Amino acid sequence: MTKYTPMIEQYLAIKAEVPDAFLFFRLGDFYEMFFEDAIEASRELEITLTGRGGGAEERIPMCGVPYHSADNYIARLIEKGFKVAICEQVEDPDAAKGIVRREIIRIVTPGTVMDARSLGETNNYIVSVTGTEDGGYGFAACDISTGELFVTRLEGTLTLVADEMNVYHPSELLAAPELLKRLKESAPAWAGTTLLTPVERERGKPEPELADYFVEAELAVLPKGGEACIRQLMAYLIETQKRSLGHLKHIRVYEQNQHMIMDPFTRRNLELVETVRDRTKKGTLLWLLDKTVTAMGGRLLRRWIEKPLMSAAAIEERLEAVDRLYHQLIVRDELKQSLKEVYDLERLVARIAYGSANARDLVALKNSLQQVPLLKQVCEASGSATLARLTARMDPCRDVMAWIGDAIAEEPPVSIRDGGMIKAGYHAYLDQLREANTNGKQWIAELEKQERERTGVKSLKIGYNKVFGYYIEVTKANISSLEEGRYERKQTLANAERFITPELKEKEGLILEAQEKMVDLEYELFMQLRDKLSAHISRLQQLAEQIASIDVYQSLAAVSAANRYTRPQVGEFYDLRIEEGRHPVVEAVMQDGVFIANETALNKRDGSMLLITGPNMAGKSTYMRQVAIICLMAQIGCFVPAKSAQVPIIDRIFTRIGAADDLIGGQSTFMVEMMDIQVMTEKATSKSLVIIDELGRGTSTGEGMAIAQAVIEYLHDRIGCKTLVSTHFHELAHLEESLGSLRNYCMAVKESGRTVTFLRKLIPGAASTSYGIYCAQIAGLPAGIIDRSYELLNGFEARAELLQGTGQTAAGRLPAEAGASGLQPGERAFESVAGGEAPASAAPGITDRSTAA
Ligand code: ADP
Repeated sequence: MTKYTPMIEQYLAIKAEVPDAFLFFRLGDFYEMFFEDAIEASRELEITLTGRGGGAEERIPMCGVPYHSADNYIARLIEKGFKVAICEQVEDPDAAKGIVRREIIRIVTPGTVMDARSLGETNNYIVSVTGTEDGGYGFAACDISTGELFVTRLEGTLTLVADEMNVYHPSELLAAPELLKRLKESAPAWAGTTLLTPVERERGKPEPELADYFVEAELAVLPKGGEACIRQLMAYLIETQKRSLGHLKHIRVYEQNQHMIMDPFTRRNLELVETVRDRTKKGTLLWLLDKTVTAMGGRLLRRWIEKPLMSAAAIEERLEAVDRLYHQLIVRDELKQSLKEVYDLERLVARIAYGSANARDLVALKNSLQQVPLLKQVCEASGSATLARLTARMDPCRDVMAWIGDAIAEEPPVSIRDGGMIKAGYHAYLDQLREANTNGKQWIAELEKQERERTGVKSLKIGYNKVFGYYIEVTKANISSLEEGRYERKQTLANAERFITPELKEKEGLILEAQEKMVDLEYELFMQLRDKLSAHISRLQQLAEQIASIDVYQSLAAVSAANRYTRPQVGEFYDLRIEEGRHPVVEAVMQDGVFIANETALNKRDGSMLLITGPNMAGKSTYMRQVAIICLMAQIGCFVPAKSAQVPIIDRIFTRIGAADDLIGGQSTFMVEMMDIQVMTEKATSKSLVIIDELGRGTSTGEGMAIAQAVIEYLHDRIGCKTLVSTHFHELAHLEESLGSLRNYCMAVKESGRTVTFLRKLIPGAASTSYGIYCAQIAGLPAGIIDRSYELLNGFEARAELLQGTGQTAAGRLPAEAGASGLQPGERAFESVAGGEAPASAAPGITDRSTAA
């Protein structure tokens, strides 16, 4: 065994407590890392790797970061998904016998960050999952930076847990090792960005008593399995944070079916909070709807989007508020102005409970609270019943505001250790000390004057520095003017000397003592106030949430008004009808041209299942997503991009939109598609909305088509959900004859010569061709290839016709002749394959709406 120095032995003992974290080991003004930690940290942080002797023959690898800039390095490691354990000297080095005692004071992990630098404005969740005896799961999501704690019980398979993970996008997941492994396998979508922390119950180690943290009423409503799950979470938080978690007070219990359920792919495909391509916010529904002013409003809006409501009454309540504000620009502006003055209350309050709030945080809290009466007043004036109910429950926390206002200076310093925080008149003894301090300084100014007169040296001055205290400074040229024996030399500079006198020394003692007492007393008074505020955390948290919802209402109303959205009619009925619907995000980002609105009517009479054909780039998937997004917007309580909309409450949206980036975990696109379809067949109900883009790709044509037809039949006959399917298989159009609720639709195109204009208009009937070669031409393939392709295509089709012995193939050709349906020449937008005549109503819209390619 290698023999190390006592300090390295101490290091190794402490490191053994945290094998999965970087240990920041405090040595004087640095945090040092040793051994493997040092090698890895130097690489991750790009800092120099050095070494030091430690008793052993070989030098020990070492690297370090300065104490004062450590937060920065910690933030960088956390961002990369590591944990950092901070180990401090816990006794005065001067008083220590032998090696200074050191302890880990906190372990920072991606899911438990409190530092603003790492957090940004979005929520940062840590999720805890436990298995229950009856095969279900306890699920808890907690943001310790805001104090939010959500708990639910999930019945059934692990995919439900994966769905829920996608609501929160946690940065850390806690579960027993075995469960963690299964979770990781079942849900690759989030696994890459979430730190997986295995937690094991150590036998004999006491578990936290939940009653020590939550009041009984909160615990009484926990679902089965919820308690174990929260205990697992709390045990981890206590172990890593090692301090008060007084802001985790309120447990929000919910059931998964209180909200519309969406699987991870659906959330991604609909681009609710991040884009498929680069996972950014820009270009998502959240980006479009987010005109919130406060950070907490922004977080709440995101939650609303992630969790659309299922209760018609609750949706109506939100719509009512949005409706009122929609029509009142001035009210919206007043709300916005007032909200601008409100800080991130949730985070401020969390810092108070956590013990990391400074005096500036308290001033920010006070200033925010000052806005509450105005917010209430404006909300009441809006005439909205929803807002009136909300503000009636609002507690302006005037007492809290007054306590801070009385004690804390308007512009206090960042540090709470240097004084300057407490107002005059707040504390009598503090005022006395301040007076003594001021008097002392006046006395010194007076002394300077007297000494100048006594010595006749005009340039004589009295100064102060930390090492020598107060001194009298005289330039070398004037030294001879000093009275012998009166001054004691303290320091020699290049061209001056510094002296003290006994009376100056005595006064200095008094001034410094007063100063030290002042700083200590201010710190103590500040702590007292902070503790006092801690007892009111629940009230402040409630207020924060109410303010956040006001912010979300004004945001939804502002976006709805700016984009001419309309109030949807939402309820427990089956029929979905959207008049002139648009895709809100595609419309918002369109550079030129207009977005072409489309109709949607999904009901038992006109068909609840649309089979949409049409060439690539015609607008099929935009249309299908648009229907889903309109339903979702209605269920979060927002107005929708349509002339009018009647939206039934949807329990689940499934989307299966084939994309190249589905290649995850070695599974082929086709396999992923089939697994999704399996889940869909199991979970979809008649209240669900199913969207499948390009069903049956990725296998042979024959098989793909067979599977597509079988899936369509299953959804049609067994489930009766509203379904939009796009397909390349024009041959499936015949299903319209056998499936009563299925209708063929296609995206209209206008042909002239060898060019095709996409009209983006959904019309009844089946498309006649895929225009694949045309797309190849637009993509710039050489003319030779294009010509040859047409030649080959004509050959294939002629052969197919010959084989069939009839002229009735579905495939159309370019260039086209005038259609038989009464359209203008060159506007043969569709060809009815299934034999049914396309309704004449489809025709006029097409000519009017045609846009230039
Ligand atoms: P498809 O799924 O048929 O291949 P997309 O839905 O991806 O086609 O649409 C292709 C492009 O056409 C979109 O990127 C969008 O810019 C544009 N687009 C789609 N629908 C419309 C519309 N209704 N109005 C205007 N432009 C549209």
